[in-house]
Amino acid sequence: MAAAPIVRPVNPGSAPAGPGERMMALAAELFPIHRSVTGPGVRETLARLAGEIPLEVREVPSGTRVFDWTVPPEWRLREAYVADESGRRLVDARDSNLHVVGHSAPVRARMSWRELRERVHTLPERPRWIPYRIDWVREDWGFCMAHETYEWLDARPDREYEVVIDADLAPGSLTWGEARLPGTSDREILVWTHACHPSLANDGLSGLVVATEWARRMLDRERRHTWRFVFAPATIGALAWLHENRQRVDRIDHGLVLACLGGDGPFTWKRSRRGDAPVDRAAARVLADSGRPHEIRPFDPTGYDERQFGSPGFDLPVGRLTRTPNGEYPEYHSSADDLSLLSAAGLAGSLAVVEEIADALERNRRYRNTRPMGEPRLSRWGLHEAFGRAPDRARAQSAALWILNLSDGRHDLLDVAAASGLPVSTVMDTADALRAAGLLDGLEEAHPDRQEER
Ligand code: ZN
Repeated sequence: MAAAPIVRPVNPGSAPAGPGERMMALAAELFPIHRSVTGPGVRETLARLAGEIPLEVREVPSGTRVFDWTVPPEWRLREAYVADESGRRLVDARDSNLHVVGHSAPVRARMSWRELRERVHTLPERPRWIPYRIDWVREDWGFCMAHETYEWLDARPDREYEVVIDADLAPGSLTWGEARLPGTSDREILVWTHACHPSLANDGLSGLVVATEWARRMLDRERRHTWRFVFAPATIGALAWLHENRQRVDRIDHGLVLACLGGDGPFTWKRSRRGDAPVDRAAARVLADSGRPHEIRPFDPTGYDERQFGSPGFDLPVGRLTRTPNGEYPEYHSSADDLSLLSAAGLAGSLAVVEEIADALERNRRYRNTRPMGEPRLSRWGLHEAFGRAPDRARAQSAALWILNLSDGRHDLLDVAAASGLPVSTVMDTADALRAAGLLDGLEEAHPDRQEER
C-alpha cells in the first residue's frame, strides 16, 4: 500500500502562523539556558524538549574513549566574573553566558589586566558584540567581552581585578536526547541537530526548534521509515553517538543535519559525502520545486556534524540543510546571534522545506513497468479519467510517461523528478495512480547504495 502524503504543498516562508510561532516561543524559552558540551544546561534543554516529544535521554561517562577522542569531564558553572577593587563586576556571566569561555577550568585569583588580557577574546571589528568561544579539549579558562570593554580595561593596564570562574570540571557525563518514531520498516531516517550552544539563536536554537516541531508533527503521521531525531552536543556528541551506534548505523538510509534555519537567507543544501544519495536528490528537487532562492553545495569535511557522518569509515548518506550557513553571516558565534535573527515565518518556511523532503523520502520508490513493450494506452487503464481529476492534467500525463519509461527497475521516482523537471509531488501522486491501475509493480526499497549497482 502506498504511504499517504505526509505534508501539505510546499509553501516555504508563508506557512500557517501556528508552527512558526510555536517554534519562536520554544526558542525564547531555551535561549537563556547556559548550555555547553556537557553539564546541566544540555539536560535542562532536553527536559524541556521532552515536554514536546517522546525523548530518551542517553548519557556516556566522562573518560569514555570514542574513536580517537575521550569524553571530557562534565562542566558545571556557578558563576564567572571579573570585579574591580570595589567589588563592581565589569564582566559577569549573569549578564551573558557568552562572557565565560565554555568548559573553562575553575579559577579564583587577583591579577593585573596585563595578565588577564592574555585570556580575553573580543571581536575588534564588532566592538559591541561578545564572541562565543568554547574549548573542551584543553583544561584552560578564559573570558569573552565586547571590544569596547576590553579597550576601557586596556587603558588602565596596571589595575588589579578579582577573577572568578566558580565551576566544577569533574567526572560526569555527556548527554544527548533522541526521539525514535518507529515506522513500518526499520530502515531509518536520521535528523540531527546540535544542542550544546549557549545563547545563540540561529546557530543552535533554530535547528533545535525546527527538529522538535518536525518530530512532534511526525508523531501522528503514517511512517514508512523509522525516524530518529537526535539532539546532541556537536562533535564529541556525534562521535559518542556514532561510537555507541556503530553496529547499527547501516540502518540509516537517509540523514539530515539541521542548523541555521531561523532567518530568511537562501536555503543551502550541503550534499552528503556520497554526493548523490537519495536525500541529496530529494533535497535538490524539493528546493528546485519550491521556487525559493537556494544553493546546492558539495560535501566538504568542515562545518557541523556531517563531518563525522561523512568520515570515510562511516560514509553515511547524511547531508545538511541550513539557510545562510555557519560562518557566513556576520552575527555567527557572537552575542548578536540572538532571537532577533529568528522569525516565525523563517522557521515555518524551514519546517515546510524539511517536511517536503520527508515526504519525498517517504514516498520514493523504484517500480517496474508492467507493460514495458511500447507505451501503454492510458485510456484503457482508466487513467485519462484519473488524470482528468488531477489539478494539472497535462503535468500528470507527462509524469505518467516519464514514470512508465524510467520504471525499468533501476530508477526511482526521484530520478523521474530530476529527469523530467516535474514537481516531486506530481510524480509521487501520478505513480500512486499508475500503481493503483496495475501499470507499476513496486520493487524493494530504494537503497542508498544503488548508484553502485548502475
Ligand atoms: Zn556553532
